[in-house]
Amino acid sequence: MSAAAGRTAGAGLALPLYPGPLVDGLSRPISYLRVSLTDRCNYRCTYCMPPEGINPLPRSELLTFEEIVTVVAVLQQVGVRRVRLTGGEPTVRKDLVVLVSHLARLGLDDLALSTNGERLAELAGPLRQAGLGRLNISLDTLDAARFAQVTRHGHLDRVLAGIEAARAAGFACIKLNTVAVAGFNDDELPAICRFAWARGLVPRFIEIMPMSGGALFYPGSLLPAARIRALLEEAFGPGEPGVTYVPGAGPARYLQFRVEGKSVPVGIISAVTEPFCDTCNRVRLSATGQLHVCLAHDESTDLRTVLRSGLRDAELAAALLAAVRGAVAAKRAGHAFTRAGCGGPRKHMVSIGG
Ligand code: SAM
Ligand code: SF4
Repeated sequence: MSAAAGRTAGAGLALPLYPGPLVDGLSRPISYLRVSLTDRCNYRCTYCMPPEGINPLPRSELLTFEEIVTVVAVLQQVGVRRVRLTGGEPTVRKDLVVLVSHLARLGLDDLALSTNGERLAELAGPLRQAGLGRLNISLDTLDAARFAQVTRHGHLDRVLAGIEAARAAGFACIKLNTVAVAGFNDDELPAICRFAWARGLVPRFIEIMPMSGGALFYPGSLLPAARIRALLEEAFGPGEPGVTYVPGAGPARYLQFRVEGKSVPVGIISAVTEPFCDTCNRVRLSATGQLHVCLAHDESTDLRTVLRSGLRDAELAAALLAAVRGAVAAKRAGHAFTRAGCGGPRKHMVSIGG
């Protein structure tokens, strides 16, 4: 997609009148879109992907950059102001930097990327220059052997180099995402916090979710938010509720700790034991153009067929918007995740990107 095509994609899609904001059937405004760029990944994290991997999609099934920009430009007109690129691993999608530059030109409030960090040493600078605003980097452990075990392929030293490159590139806010797994990294939470704070990063701990029909969820692996808070308070003393710390205002709840005279934040994302569905503001676009209005359910709406229907400009925008509104109207009240590891969707996390 050329630079000119990027501008055209955004501009020609203007709807004739302001069509009103995107709101679901339970009056939750939708302002945040996560876009998966690929279902491929250079890692195989144990809680995310089956050991044998998944059958990767043929390239022709993926949305093109122009199609992605089209969907974002249409949703921007109805109140979606924040976009996060994810995967699989988004940095394995060819020409990611070009896509970021096209999306950056749309003038969103927030353009962010989630990555495992493996390729950041080479990509952090170019992504920043292309207009990427924020980064979330996944890091489950500071121990190289554990890291290789949980990612099945990963090299901790590369991710640490990627984190340094991201810091040097001047991103405004870098968060470190750690899936907290009982019996795996629950002894490392304070060390991960100290690692993050020492580098000006924001540590966040995520409860493991039973995706993949529960097949990747090991009984006893859930570390509930209450236990995460207790482990942090044992190490750092009482935490105060953080207020509106975060640019991005996602589902994390923040605590502030006083450590060595400084107030430092920790985020906890507790989808299973302390759900935040009441305030859910997001929808997800898969790499093949399926709109998922809930991470925790399998139903989706096919936007790729609309994108490839031959409609153009305002007609295309109107058809996309109609499909999106229909899907969003049916967004469910919440999920059915249980502590025992059932009630989740059949889809794999790697296919939708968290
Ligand atoms: N590959 C990128 C990465 O790892 O950051 C982006 C996609 S990944 C699916 C997005 C986030 O989802 C990561 O922080 C990952 O650790 C998290 N994740 C994957 N599977 C999960 C699960 N079953 N429960 C909770 N979080 C999960
Ligand atoms: Fe890949 Fe991210 Fe899933 Fe790990 S969590 S397998 S890095 S998509």
